[in-house]
Amino acid sequence: PRLANQIAAGEVVERPASVVKELVENAIDAGGSRIDIEVEVGGARLIRVRDDGCGIAEDDLPLSLSRHATSKIASLEELEGVASLGFRGEALASVSSVSRLELVSNVEDDPRGGWRVVAEGRNMEPRVTPAPHPRGTSVTVRDLFFNTPARRKFLRTEKTEFGHVEETFRRQALSRFDIGWTLRHNSKTLHQLPVAESVEERERRLRSLLGKDFLGNALNLDIAAGGLRLWGWVGLPTHSRAQADQQYFFVNGRVVRDRLVAHAIRQAYRDVLFHGRHPVFVLYLEVDPTVVDVNVHPTKHEVRFRDGRMVHDFLFSSLHRALGEARA
Ligand code: ADP
Ligand code: MG
Repeated sequence: PRLANQIAAGEVVERPASVVKELVENAIDAGGSRIDIEVEVGGARLIRVRDDGCGIAEDDLPLSLSRHATSKIASLEELEGVASLGFRGEALASVSSVSRLELVSNVEDDPRGGWRVVAEGRNMEPRVTPAPHPRGTSVTVRDLFFNTPARRKFLRTEKTEFGHVEETFRRQALSRFDIGWTLRHNSKTLHQLPVAESVEERERRLRSLLGKDFLGNALNLDIAAGGLRLWGWVGLPTHSRAQADQQYFFVNGRVVRDRLVAHAIRQAYRDVLFHGRHPVFVLYLEVDPTVVDVNVHPTKHEVRFRDGRMVHDFLFSSLHRALGEARA
């Protein structure tokens, strides 16, 4: 089974950033209010994600490292969808097969409680030993690809790998203002983001993640109609070299790159502003699932709206109006 895990790992674990993505998704699912991420050497030496969520019970600890054992899949339909994706419910198993993984967790409020389990490459130590930990979970992944040298060779420079980690962090921190986050690299704290409720607090988070310039010329909007709500920030680029990569679009909390969405945004910008400038935006589309069927691909950032036309028109007209008012 460890071999199967390693094969599966090829799909899940491309680089340190993919490990961060999976561990943070688990931490978000655990329902806590803060997530701390620590990385060394771009993530190649160490990745640690710590949350204050529900924790994993002693008996479930070894199971959480075994394939499919504790997957959240509930229905047959879901299972079929999952089969084609190939790896729901096996992220931890996959990561542990290509690293030295340690899981410490506590479901109780008593910080003296807690349990630890370790897996290293193919040799999993199934023993669960007591280890004090506050309520929540810490997952530590050391020496990624230590036992798969071919894959390790594909890792790029520390700077490049950390760049991917930070971009993953940006998306995740932008997706949940109700969670406090920190990101540390080589013992240096790069982002410290408290829970952000007000627009001012959220804009402070945007400045930390996207730089001071992003909001220099951005406009905050919030428009709702017909079961759809669009809120967030759109930049009004005043110079032609606005960063092309500062484009974040979330649908019901999940980051999405979608042609229909991109088209609606581009059209609105093109109509109102000048040509040849890249829109920059952080936008959140909230869709009432009883009104518009939305189906977000869990890994590929694709989205399928049942009524795409309606979503397109809503996006276009909302942005058109907001940008028009901002320019006037
Ligand atoms: P999946 O998330 O698809 O179920 P994973 O391999 O990522 O599969 O995780 C396996 C299981 O381990 C999860 O279903 C969950 O029960 C448990 N788990 C993992 N990380 C955490 C965490 N940070 N807090 C609580 N439970 C966790
Ligand atoms: Mg998971």
